Amino acid sequence: MLVALGQHARFDAEMRSGLSSAEHQLNAKFMKMKRRELSTHDSNGSTLIQQPFAKIHQSMVNTQLYKSLLELPKGAILHVHWDSMLSADWLIKVASYNDHCWMDTRPGKGYGAMNFSLSRPGEGFQLLSKLRDAAPHVVSAFDDSLVQLLSSSPTKFEPWKNAWIRFQKYFGVVNGLVSYVPVFEQYLRKAFQNLVSQSRLVHVELRFDVNPVMYNLNGTSLSPHETLAVLQRVAKEFASHLTVRLILSSYKPAAPPAKLPAILRQAADLAAAFPNLVVGFDMVGQEDISPSLHDYAPALVAGRKEHGLKYFLHAGETAFNGNDTAAENVIDAALLARRIGHGLALIKRPELGPHLRQQGIAIECCPISNQVLGYVQDFQNHPAAWMVESGVPLTLSPDDPGALGYDNVAADWWVAFVAWNMDLASLKQLAHNSIKYSALEDAEKEVAFTQWRKQWDSFVHLQLIALSFSTSDLGAPAVVV
Ligand SMILES: [Zn+2]
Repeated sequence: MLVALGQHARFDAEMRSGLSSAEHQLNAKFMKMKRRELSTHDSNGSTLIQQPFAKIHQSMVNTQLYKSLLELPKGAILHVHWDSMLSADWLIKVASYNDHCWMDTRPGKGYGAMNFSLSRPGEGFQLLSKLRDAAPHVVSAFDDSLVQLLSSSPTKFEPWKNAWIRFQKYFGVVNGLVSYVPVFEQYLRKAFQNLVSQSRLVHVELRFDVNPVMYNLNGTSLSPHETLAVLQRVAKEFASHLTVRLILSSYKPAAPPAKLPAILRQAADLAAAFPNLVVGFDMVGQEDISPSLHDYAPALVAGRKEHGLKYFLHAGETAFNGNDTAAENVIDAALLARRIGHGLALIKRPELGPHLRQQGIAIECCPISNQVLGYVQDFQNHPAAWMVESGVPLTLSPDDPGALGYDNVAADWWVAFVAWNMDLASLKQLAHNSIKYSALEDAEKEVAFTQWRKQWDSFVHLQLIALSFSTSDLGAPAVVV
């Protein structure tokens, strides 16, 4: 009786009762691969899923389970920051090869910061092309050292404050690269290509700065309207495979509550100019040291009333830091937002679960981000394990994969599947939820669902064939390398 009640309460109850016989067969193979990951211990007695992401990433991508998850049609990503979609490898080995790229070579905090300019942008900057010419036989080693500089995920669990210092250094280095107009375009094109062909997605919602500053070589900058026009043009190239929408966001340290009304006007202005691109607004930054959502609430409520803005809010991304502010934030987010980014603090407010279900407010869960940024250690103890069982509407996203040392959301799917009480129906529910809780209009959702269902049926068919060749041995278990 209690077991049956538990099954009924789960977030994927509906999907679990409706699997086809082919899906049941594939589920058996997936569960076998999962059991293998959970029963393989290292010399310290730990399974892979209990360890820091950077330590297990390479082992994870070598597993058959990861290879199968690469192929799994995932629907949509609802939480990713646009400037952290691509790997450090691409930034250094492609983007920084554009002409006129300078790098700050002074040892210390600013080391590695890159900028495009016709003349030296500041003391200590040297042309990257000259640095490479000076080391012609070791260019790859030079580039690798820069990639290393950007590969910020630690192989040991780190407190959140240290993790954020490392995380923010990444953006200090790459900001001048990705906001150079030609690189901005290249970046978007490559990222959208990857989302379609590598991550098997049909829709993405990007967090994008409400006041972007994209610059040209001659020192001029694009206006926010011009920047969004570039983004819209590049997104249109992918329109038959991928829909792209923006959640405009402001950085909390630069946006105290008193300034929010003006920022919301700017967001509303862009939303009116790009009605098929902009879907809402958010605020980002370290929640534990930022003003509470309660402080922002009056302006947010007014912004919704005056401009019709919709909110998709980071909330409850917390190490609890000796206070309950973030746990209070999830209450405000549950009252203000269409979706909640992270929502880790929901475990302190379980009474919100039924409200989220009734109102159709989904959680954008980002497990790897939560671990690398110091909020969770063992993935098995991530609050999503509780959300799965209690029926909180759940979706899965990578947050900042480029800055966290990976570039394919399959890694988050591997973590979720292995760490939490999930099966193939759960994965199907995650993909389904990502479209259901997206900001697309109903008619657009139908198109996305049709596209995804076709991909899903083909995936089940092809995986059954591929995995039938290895019925007795579904790949080697993962070991830490
Ligand atoms: Zn985020």
